[in-house]
Amino acid sequence: MTDLPIIQRAKGFADRTAFFGRGGEVTYQNLLHRSAAVASGLLAEKADLEEERIAFLLPTGADYAATQWGIWRAGGIAVPINGGATVPEIEHALTCAGVRRVVVAANRLSVLGDLPKRLGLEVLDFAGLEGNSPLPQIAPTRRAMILFTSGTTNKPKGVVSTHASIEAQVTALVEAWAWQANDRIPLFLPMHHLHGILNILCCGLWSGAAIEPFDKFDADAICARVAEGAYTLFMAVPTIYVKLLKWLDAPENAGKRDCVIKGFGAMRLMVSGSAALPASIHKEWSDLTGQVLLERYGMTEIGMALSNPYAGERRAGMVGLPMPRTDIQLVDDAGKVVSGEGAVGEIWVKGPAVFREYWDNPKATAESFAGDWFKTGDIATLEGGYYRIMGRSSVDIIKSGGYKLSALEIEAALLEHPNITECAVVGLADDEWGEIVAAAIGLREGATLTLEELQAWASARLSAYKLPRALLLVDALPRNAMGKVTKPAVKALFT
Ligand code: ATP
Ligand code: MG
Repeated sequence: MTDLPIIQRAKGFADRTAFFGRGGEVTYQNLLHRSAAVASGLLAEKADLEEERIAFLLPTGADYAATQWGIWRAGGIAVPINGGATVPEIEHALTCAGVRRVVVAANRLSVLGDLPKRLGLEVLDFAGLEGNSPLPQIAPTRRAMILFTSGTTNKPKGVVSTHASIEAQVTALVEAWAWQANDRIPLFLPMHHLHGILNILCCGLWSGAAIEPFDKFDADAICARVAEGAYTLFMAVPTIYVKLLKWLDAPENAGKRDCVIKGFGAMRLMVSGSAALPASIHKEWSDLTGQVLLERYGMTEIGMALSNPYAGERRAGMVGLPMPRTDIQLVDDAGKVVSGEGAVGEIWVKGPAVFREYWDNPKATAESFAGDWFKTGDIATLEGGYYRIMGRSSVDIIKSGGYKLSALEIEAALLEHPNITECAVVGLADDEWGEIVAAAIGLREGATLTLEELQAWASARLSAYKLPRALLLVDALPRNAMGKVTKPAVKALFT
């Protein structure tokens, strides 16, 4: 009988540390043991869960990993729940995925509100799952996980991956970024999203590496550990790099600053993704720490598809080259494949890492594929052989006076303004131009900015037709749990 590959590999790392930090050290052997107990507890009298969707809500760390593995080992589909979500958001996920049983840590039960009663859910306490049942054989083609997209453009969709597609996503990343058993990485990202689950948890455990879990990102706590040299690897979303720069700039941290900067500089790799990393932040970070951030592009449906090279040149504002075993093509509005310098089109992706289907939504699945090619909805261009993301065709490509403008390009330029701390550019319907460029902007404390001043300043960086025609100053941009700006909500601010 053969185990799932991730279980087989863990057996080879049995005595190594899988988790460290709060909660103490947990070895791979412990994890194997606990996951077998979870699998047995879930199976009860059954031989195989046969793709039952099991939701789980646990703090980041060993119990979370043991539950995910336990569900897999028992033949179920793992459905991680966002502990920071509202009750209606959780209800959407549970009902969409047809979940009947939820594994929870006792202290997380309140997050579910009245859902157990209202939806007739069976709630299983993680601590009570035990047993020593024989475990079923799991074929790689079986469904393994349903992850919900971030809901940046619409209601989150349930993305179904198989054991084989997860393995393809993991092995491509492990190879591209040279994951090793002696890597150590902090994990503070939300644990219902690909970035934390796949890029960090699954890749780390696949490699025999050690993970330090945190409930959330806390700059003080992370920087203290970075100063101690606790990590070799670091993966975060762009907003976290902005927060870290702010922390390093704060007068109250002046005494710790040098050690923290040294700690960041000494890591083997630091990665940014899940949203565009403004070139200005990329530069600020490397000027300060000497660490050139590696930006990559991916989505829940495909894993990571494009990445700046680990060994070669990492370019600011770009997402690099195709990942191993991943085919990429750009397709223009007319459905024609375009290539070469300056080509612009929608990114289509093909390969073993592509997801299987949207759960219970054959229409959305059919619409998003052309044969084997998955149509991402993201527009990119080729510059010097590297891909640059221009944004989502639905919200970031602004059609104005016959031009197609990239909101991301305009945002990156505006963020170079010394008083602008955050900004989101959207297109607003306009009788004359089709759409006009509108910018929602957050300013440094005490600063002021008028539309005329903004236009005058930006005209040195952007052609006249790309200049904002409407400006709204905001205290904070609307963002989702991944820290991504929700553009439909930004548009609504202008109306
Ligand atoms: P939803 O599909 O529910 O609207 P979402 O697309 O934000 O939400 P995810 O799968 O978490 O859900 O995010 C994938 C998207 O994030 C990509 O399609 C792309 O638009 C964006 N993205 C990821 N990495 C980058 C990057 N490096 N630069 C720009 N955009 C990125
Ligand atoms: Mg999406």
